[in-house]
Amino acid sequence: MSGLQPREKVDFLVLGGGVAGLSFALHAADRGTVLVLTKRQRFEGSTQYAQGGVAAVLGPDDDFDLHIQDTLVAGAGLCKREAVEVTVREGPERIRWLQSLGIELDRESPDRLHLTREGGHSRRRVAHAKDTTGREVEKTLLAACEARGIRIVEDVVAIDLITTGKLGLAGPNAALGAYVLDRTTGDISTVEAGITVLATGGAGKVYLYTSNPDVATGDGVAMAYRAGAAIANMEFFQFHPTCLFHPQAKSFLVSEALRGEGGILRNGAGEAFMSRYDPRKELAPRDVVARSIDAEIKRRGDDCAWLDMSHLPKGFLVDHFPHIYATCKEFGIDMAVQPIPIVPAVHYMCGGVLTDLMGRTSIPRLFAAGETSCTGLHGANRLASNSLLEGLVFGRRAALRAVEELPAIPGGSHAIPDWNPGDALDPEEGVVVAHNWDEVRRVMWNYVGIVRTEKRLERARARIRLLRSEIRDYYWQYKLTPDLVELRNVADVAMLVVECAHRRKESRGLHYLLDYPKTDDRWLKDTVVSRGDVE
Ligand SMILES: Cc1cc2nc3c(=O)[nH]c(=O)nc-3n(C[C@H](O)[C@H](O)[C@H](O)COP(=O)(O)OP(=O)(O)OC[C@H]3O[C@@H](n4cnc5c(N)ncnc54)[C@H](O)[C@@H]3O)c2cc1C
Repeated sequence: MSGLQPREKVDFLVLGGGVAGLSFALHAADRGTVLVLTKRQRFEGSTQYAQGGVAAVLGPDDDFDLHIQDTLVAGAGLCKREAVEVTVREGPERIRWLQSLGIELDRESPDRLHLTREGGHSRRRVAHAKDTTGREVEKTLLAACEARGIRIVEDVVAIDLITTGKLGLAGPNAALGAYVLDRTTGDISTVEAGITVLATGGAGKVYLYTSNPDVATGDGVAMAYRAGAAIANMEFFQFHPTCLFHPQAKSFLVSEALRGEGGILRNGAGEAFMSRYDPRKELAPRDVVARSIDAEIKRRGDDCAWLDMSHLPKGFLVDHFPHIYATCKEFGIDMAVQPIPIVPAVHYMCGGVLTDLMGRTSIPRLFAAGETSCTGLHGANRLASNSLLEGLVFGRRAALRAVEELPAIPGGSHAIPDWNPGDALDPEEGVVVAHNWDEVRRVMWNYVGIVRTEKRLERARARIRLLRSEIRDYYWQYKLTPDLVELRNVADVAMLVVECAHRRKESRGLHYLLDYPKTDDRWLKDTVVSRGDVE
């Protein structure tokens, strides 16, 4: 069936069709009715863009303790050890599960996977399918869902969660489903569910430059926050140092391997600047390089920096980096003769909707998994290739718990009112929405970026507050569009990032505050925000 009926009722409502949502769906499907919703086409999300692979202990020289240790070190003291333990220990089994569903991972011999090593990993442990692992993961999971007859509806945008609290019902505030907007018809459906799962991915679009696809507007975090759930650690956003800077090149990553092969970072005057920031120059860790590029761009007032590969032979570049070479060429940049314009870009959201080890949020009947959740695995910084793994592990764990809870949930329907469009007019002022989008993203980039100061955070807070109040007025005055839904979410998430960043008076992992440049263990705790704490 395509599209949604005005009223739907299911056992498991899964918002999101990436690695986390589909893993949940596949593990819950034989215990109740499942409905998966995706905001655009079913495969569109961060999962399908993941290049590197999935980390798990699979090599003969590796063991669980090493992977646990590497993850804890990356997390800079803030990981929850139990979350790290379950993720690492369940990792190999999740890879075998993907293989049982038919994924083709690269092999070095018929009975051994080929494993790569990435920054921060002390062993080779990243299983991959060439450099398009995410696409293979997504394809495999979607095919498995199709084979199981799991219903997936595309082009529908969850607007808000329906909760007992919102309906004024007695007892603890529990999730009852969601209101959902059909992108094509503009109709709004009421979907009632025994269990609702947030698997809506990250929120890179809160910032001006990001490697994330357009769907990454933090909808799950924003909806959960508005419904009253606890949100944690939103100050920790990981930046990728080198994203192609070109008006038409949305979110194209220029691999860190280029620097490994001798790429030189230059400023607008053509100077190689990294030696001023770190003796390891271009080979300093990812966060140091990203911070240095950001500082240099801001110091000079340039729009971007440049990654110069032009001293290397063209044959070598085409041979080693065929995809990057061809993509740059499409945008009129020949990396064999000219430097590539780049900016650091937001890549991964380490915080999110706070969950326990079974994916339960602070709201009964509401679960979260994948990038939208904060399980405690990443702490203050994510270890590369641990995120697909987290989606696989916690998608399943959440499903195991949800199927246990389902029988105890009362079967009858609640008297949920239809979405009330009020006396909304057709939006004539699309320009206002576009302008506000742009403003939120610029404020975040300029004031809440890689390097923060108290003063800039204060400025951001004042501006975001104003924008949110404008958006709120606009929201209830005009007919809802997907853009408006996303704008409200982006602004809410921006506010949460500012709030968390403001509360943490130290520098740790991905949060770098110039006024407090040192790590201070008095802040060795999660930053937890709930509705009512801010506003
Ligand atoms: C360029 C890039 C490279 C990466 N490389 C790696 C890597 O090599 N290894 C690794 O481990 N990680 C990598 N990551 C991170 C990893 O891909 C993501 O963290 C992970 O795929 C997130 O999966 P998810 O299921 O949580 O969300 P996603 O895969 O992003 O899926 C989100 C889903 O939610 C839906 N959705 C969102 N909002 C709504 C709404 N309001 N209503 C309905 N549906 C909604 C979307 O349509 C989509 O289906 C990379 C990320 C990027 C962007």
